[in-house]
Amino acid sequence: MLEGKTVLVSGSTSGIGQGIAEAFAAQGCNIVLNGFGDPADIDVLRTQIAAKHGVKARYDGADMSKPDAIEAMITGAIREFGAIDILVNNAGIQHVAPIEEFAVEKWNAIIAINLVAAFHTIRHALPTMKQRRWGRIINVASAHALVASPFKSAYVAAKHGIAGLTKTVALEVAERGITVNAVCPGYVLTPLVEKQIPDTAQARGITSEEVVRDVLLAAQPTKQFVTVNEVAALTVFLASGAAASITGAILPVDGGWTAH
Ligand code: NAD
Repeated sequence: MLEGKTVLVSGSTSGIGQGIAEAFAAQGCNIVLNGFGDPADIDVLRTQIAAKHGVKARYDGADMSKPDAIEAMITGAIREFGAIDILVNNAGIQHVAPIEEFAVEKWNAIIAINLVAAFHTIRHALPTMKQRRWGRIINVASAHALVASPFKSAYVAAKHGIAGLTKTVALEVAERGITVNAVCPGYVLTPLVEKQIPDTAQARGITSEEVVRDVLLAAQPTKQFVTVNEVAALTVFLASGAAASITGAILPVDGGWTAH
């Protein structure tokens, strides 16, 4: 039933977002990719997704901290495909530091990219979803939408915020055939996590190996990283007809972390 739908995944040039884009392309959906990276690598990704799955794939390099760029990306995609049927707010960054040392520009960037960007994508994508009486909005939040960890004040604030945004919009559009949910991964070994290992080691005064064993995987009862494919599969399921009654849900896929 997803064949021919159009899916926009913010932050899909890497990690979880890329996996979600590929999973929707495998369902026959047209894809709008977004994110930073080497232009040649991104073009290879775009053409491979299109060719492998026989779908259309568009790339827009909108900076998700820039409201005007977000609006232009959404309107450009709607002009080409008629609507964004499935919106996946995934772009995100991280910064790890004690709150008194937390750089103000890092705080502002995390709130802008991890939270405010979703307000803008949602408000611009919703009108065509409402016209068609069908839509799916899936926000890639985090276990940090449900629980906190020290030294991640901006990230935890943004992810708790996106959980609230998810529930609010779900209530506003519940009678319009549109569902709004958040998926909350535990630790997935992507560049976002790899980059924070040295900073966490410094903030806590321990080695990188100790960060993986005693900080990251210590939180996850399974003692395994969550995989990109597991997050992507849940996201595709939430877009399916079988998930029509799931809305306003904040769904962990975290190896039991938030069961603590
Ligand atoms: P990643 O670093 O591999 O990918 C992040 C993506 O966002 C990239 O495509 C990057 O180019 C893009 N991006 C960053 N800043 C951007 C901006 N200003 N404008 C447009 N694109 C931008 O990270 P990931 O681990 O795949 O994370 C994806 C999402 O999953 C994030 O929201 C993150 O908070 C969330 N998440 C990740 C984990 C994890 O353990 N990796 C756990 C829970 C939640």
